[in-house]
Parts: sequence; structure tokens; C-alpha cells
Amino acid sequence: MLVVMKAQATPEEIQVVCDYIEHLGFRAHPLPGAQRTAIGITGNQGEVERGNLEELPGVAEVIRVSKPYKLASRDVKQEDTIVRFQGTDAAIGGHELAIIAGPCSIESREQAFAIAEQVAAGGAQFFRGGAYKPRTSPYAFQGLGLDALKIMAEIRDKFGLRIVTEALDNDTLELVAEWADVMQIGARNMQNFSLLKQAGRLRKPVLIKRGLSATLEEFLMAAEYVMSEGNYQVILCERGVRTFSDHARNTLDLSVVPAIKRVSHLPILVDPSHGTGRRDSVLPMARAAVACGADGIIVEVHHQPENALSDGPQSIYPAQFEKMMGEIEKIAPVVGRTLPRGIHVGVSAE
Ligand code: PEP
Ligand code: MN
Repeated sequence: MLVVMKAQATPEEIQVVCDYIEHLGFRAHPLPGAQRTAIGITGNQGEVERGNLEELPGVAEVIRVSKPYKLASRDVKQEDTIVRFQGTDAAIGGHELAIIAGPCSIESREQAFAIAEQVAAGGAQFFRGGAYKPRTSPYAFQGLGLDALKIMAEIRDKFGLRIVTEALDNDTLELVAEWADVMQIGARNMQNFSLLKQAGRLRKPVLIKRGLSATLEEFLMAAEYVMSEGNYQVILCERGVRTFSDHARNTLDLSVVPAIKRVSHLPILVDPSHGTGRRDSVLPMARAAVACGADGIIVEVHHQPENALSDGPQSIYPAQFEKMMGEIEKIAPVVGRTLPRGIHVGVSAE
């Protein structure tokens, strides 16, 4: 259920409605929009008695949300959500594209700083780097853990980049929330409901990667888990799904971008690195991602990918990152977007 407040409803009237919903034993989720505030109701098994709610001052109407995802749905909030980062211009969603770049894994302080310097110069506002790695083999590099989080905190201070990193489980989520700016929930954990709920109880933006075979509805239900706990700063990310195609690691399903935009107000990024698994496919798919309306790109960059401890074959060189930014800058205006101001795009490189 959804309570739509009148455009001129006062904060006090909104509070009275929220209190009333909570008094009924449900949860109220006020979601302010440009025109009016809508208040999502969760925790109800069947229909909420709408009569009394409709009588409260400031209420325009009470409507049923028919989709299984409610808070993530455009029925509840028509305007696109923009996730902002205090004290910076960085944002995900909205007019400017968000660019998140960095290595798959933090391997050492030197490696991380070398790459951060290059992606910052190339125009990224966010730095990605794995501290806790979800590896198929238990014998593969598992990440530097807390040491990596500390290295990334130094990178934030030095280069002004916001930090995006993955949490593998409930313990590492606490640490990621403490040290990073965006808590990433990986494809393999997209339906780890306990982890999603815990991310919903924290007050940091959450980036949810699409599961390896998740439908659009399952993807949005993962977002709904986080939002149902009161954290509305959710960012989605398409990173390829499993298909019969064997020319690439995954099949990057760009068609999910307009499909998500149709039904949800949440921002959606595209990851052309995991989506293809091949360095030579990353730039073409990054261009396509911007063209189809993605809110930004998360991309793996490594200064020495041949020595990378994870995902070297899909990591692009810093010079290719610069080239990608130059290409994106040209495509963005066609779809009404820009790269953030102050970005430096140098000469193109191979
Ligand atoms: C990653 O971003 O390094 C990663 C492991 O991504 P995914 O969960 O999409 O495989
Ligand atoms: Mn990776």
C-alpha cells in the first residue's frame, strides 16, 4: 500500500501518517519526491484498512501497489533516485554519469596507489577495489581484507575518490560500512537475504550486482530487501548473466537497463568487465552501456594486468581507461548525459 500525500502537505502531517502506520504495527517509508511525498507501507500481510488513512490531514489518496517490489517501484516514487555523497559533488543517478574504476583486487599499497592516481587523472569519481574476494577456488587469492580497506581509505584522502568495495558476509559488511563509501553486494550474494537485510539496517549506499541468473524481478526484490529495512540508497548493477554463449565470460544484458528504468526509480550501472571477461570487449560495451541509458560504468583497470592476482584478462590499461572516457564523453550528450565537470581526458591511446 502507498499513501500519496498532497503536494502542500506539511512535515507534521507526514509525520502523523507515519506514526499512524507504525501504530497499526506496520512500517512507514516516507519517500519525498519533487511534487509530493509518498509513504510506502510494508509489513502488512493483506490489505491495510484504507478508510482511516484517507481521512488523515494532508492525504491525497491511498493506493495498492500491485508489483511484488514496492519501495523500488516507480509506483511509489516517480522521479529517478540520485544517491549523493556528503561533502562531494559525486553522485550516482541523475544527469551526470558515475564512473567507478580500479583493480579487481587490492594487491598492495603500491599497486592500488598507482592505479588510483591514473583513474583519478582520467576522470573517475569513485575507486573500486576488492578487499574480500568471492573466488571460485578456495586456493585463489582471497583479498587483503582489512589492510586493503585501510589502503583504500588512504586513497580517498589523497585523491578525493569515493570508495566502493564488496562485503562477502555479515562480518565483513560491518567493516566495509566503517571504511568505505559504497557497500557492494556481489552477484553471488544477490540473494543472500540476511546480508541484504543487514545492509538495509546500515546507513550507507549499497551497490547490488545482478545475480548470475537473476530475473529482473529477482534483481529488484534484492533491492527491496535493503529498502524494506529503511535504507533507500540503493544502486543496481548489470554485470552479465550466464547463457549458452561461449565467446565471453558472461552475456552482458544491456536490455535490462531500459527494462529497469521503466519500472524502477533506482539508478543502474553497467559493469563491462565482468560482463564480458575480455579486455578487448570492455570499451565497446562501455560505449553501448552509456548509449542505452545506464547511469554509469564500473570498470576494472590495472596498470600491469598480466601480473594481476585476479581478473587480469578483463582489466583494461590506464591508457584504455582514458580512451574509454573520451568516447563516453562524446556519446553522453546524445542521451542527455554528461561526464562530471573537471574531468580530464587526455590524448587517446590504444
Ligand atoms: C567484482 O566486482 O570484483 C566482482 C566479483 O563482481 P561480481 O560479483 O559481479 O562477480
Ligand atoms: Mn573482478
